[in-house]
Amino acid sequence: MSEAIRFRIDYRDGAVRAGTLSTAHGDVATPAFLPVGTRGTVRTLDSRDLVEAGVQIVLANTYHLMLRPGADVVESLGGLHRFMGWDRPILTDSGGFQVFSLEPKVDEDGVVFRSAYDGSEVRLTPEEAVVIQERLGPDIAMVLDVLVGLPAPVETVRGAMQRTLRWAERALETHRRSDQALFGIVQGGTEIDLRLESAAATAALGFSGFGIGGLSVGEGAEDRNAVLEAVVGELPEVKPRYVMGLGDTEGVLDAVERGCDLFDCVWPTRLARHGKVLSPYGDYSIRRAEFAGDGAPIDEECPCLTCRRYTRAYLRHLHTTGEMLGPRLLSVHNLTYTLGMLAESREAIAAGGFAAYRSALLAKRASGPSERPLR
Ligand SMILES: [Zn+2]
Repeated sequence: MSEAIRFRIDYRDGAVRAGTLSTAHGDVATPAFLPVGTRGTVRTLDSRDLVEAGVQIVLANTYHLMLRPGADVVESLGGLHRFMGWDRPILTDSGGFQVFSLEPKVDEDGVVFRSAYDGSEVRLTPEEAVVIQERLGPDIAMVLDVLVGLPAPVETVRGAMQRTLRWAERALETHRRSDQALFGIVQGGTEIDLRLESAAATAALGFSGFGIGGLSVGEGAEDRNAVLEAVVGELPEVKPRYVMGLGDTEGVLDAVERGCDLFDCVWPTRLARHGKVLSPYGDYSIRRAEFAGDGAPIDEECPCLTCRRYTRAYLRHLHTTGEMLGPRLLSVHNLTYTLGMLAESREAIAAGGFAAYRSALLAKRASGPSERPLR
């Protein structure tokens, strides 16, 4: 496989590392968070908002884009970067996560599901997932993996993990595009022995990076951290490690601590649309009555547009009246907060002080500002 991306480790602080992921559309300083642009848009935000929030790389969903507007349309318009008006790096998922949530028919060849848009029957195979992502044109594509809902019998989890490995080989054989990297995905639920087997075998296939899938599906932090520790030990040191679907402060810091580099989640923007604020002083709802006359911003120290210009009283008003600006302003803030937390983590790693940074932030979040106890 040609090297569509390069990954360099810039700083190490024990198991923790900070690196640079280089792509044809620029560099990503890690650890990094990818906001989710489900249908080719991070809801309510445009490209300029994303840049201002500190976003370096976005995720787009293959499942949605293959159905609407279709990979052929995106390709004919010059690919996803031009279609979205985003000239920085893009990663697409394979569609697996959405497809498996639709309870598809699964066999060794692939999956058959009904489109959520028009009910038509759609077939997706490991090969087609690669071809579709080559047409969409992200910098990083993901293999189609097999997901199981947990808890599930060990034999079911093992079967899904082993099929994911066979599908990964088929994806690698199909992948042609030299300016695009393909990442494998480690599966195996919360079974440590299955995770070890999956990580070692996926690593042996020689991908340019590795997703760690099937987490953030309701398992406890202890189980998740045990899985991450086991998997990281089997993956090559000099390739990026991407924890799929993880985006809350505590979870991301746990994963950074264990040597993971990339994270994506709908969390910061989905919560924003529901009026929930993320902050170094804890997370809370802007709808609370106590903010009705509050003339302070969400966070005095936050550099985002929302905190520079608007009060909690105004944000609460927008959310309680259902104004469209409300979700947008909170999305700007929540992404700025999440990306800022990762930028600070990187600085702390460079200075050899990640553990101290992490415990200070967690303590601040647990205590909340004394004049405003939260939740
Ligand atoms: Zn802010």
